[in-house]
Amino acid sequence: MIENHLSPVKVFLRLLPFGLTFFVFGGGIIYAFLQINKLEKDLNILTIEFASTTNSFSVNSNKLSENYTNLSKQTKGISNTLNDAQQNINAVKTQVGGVEQTVGSISGTVGDLQKLSKVDTQLLKKYSKVYFMNENYTPAHLTVVPEEYLYSATRQEQFLSESWPYLQNLLNSAKSSGVTIYIKSGYRSFAEQKSLKSSYSVMYGAGTANAFSADQGYSEHQLGTTLDFITTGLNGNLTGFDKTDSYQWLVDNAFRFGFVLSYPKGNQYYVYEPWHWRYVGVKLATYLHDNNLNFYDMDQREIDKYLINMFD
Ligand SMILES: [Zn+2]
Repeated sequence: MIENHLSPVKVFLRLLPFGLTFFVFGGGIIYAFLQINKLEKDLNILTIEFASTTNSFSVNSNKLSENYTNLSKQTKGISNTLNDAQQNINAVKTQVGGVEQTVGSISGTVGDLQKLSKVDTQLLKKYSKVYFMNENYTPAHLTVVPEEYLYSATRQEQFLSESWPYLQNLLNSAKSSGVTIYIKSGYRSFAEQKSLKSSYSVMYGAGTANAFSADQGYSEHQLGTTLDFITTGLNGNLTGFDKTDSYQWLVDNAFRFGFVLSYPKGNQYYVYEPWHWRYVGVKLATYLHDNNLNFYDMDQREIDKYLINMFD
């Protein structure tokens, strides 16, 4: 007999394996799904955490970089400030140096002017028949020459006080070298020169007198810095002085004491006077000696530059 109706129990029993299978399988799927879901969440969390860590690391790194930049800027700023300060110090130093130099050069100029104002400008003038000194001119200070330096004590001789130490050194130096040099005549006033000229004129006639005794008014003897030397063996005469050892010693050494021969042989200004020497200062005398020049051949403006050093 065909059974048309299956009993519910049978149906249940028949379906049970499927149901169980389905239940177990489905539960597994659900479980697996849940596990996957959980893993996914964990992964998300991890990802977020990693991102946040990375981010904060990046932020910290940026901050560090900013701090470093700021520090670097500040260091630079300090360095610039130091440089500026150093520059300011240098500028101040330069200014102070400049002021010191200016003060120095002003005081130097004032010193030079004071020194120059005390030097008699007549002392380095070239005298000739064109330029001559005032008949009233007298040297500011005259020193009486000690007798031991004079050839003859019959007349007192005087010399410009500032130049006298140089002349005295010259005479002492010559003496210690074994050379005999005396003073024949030193300072002569305008009046003395005038009477000397008259006596020469009477003795030799006016023409001859003009040739060897300067007209009063342009004799260098009126300055007090000029003298005639003489030595023994010439019977008191000046003629022949240039043949003596004394003259040669003067040619070689007088410049060291500031003296020059005013009228050397062949000069175009006056007759040759080997005995007639003039004090012009050591600097100018040395310049003339070293360059083989004559005082009267120099330009007056060039000569005047030596005025300030005349008594150095
Ligand atoms: Zn003379």
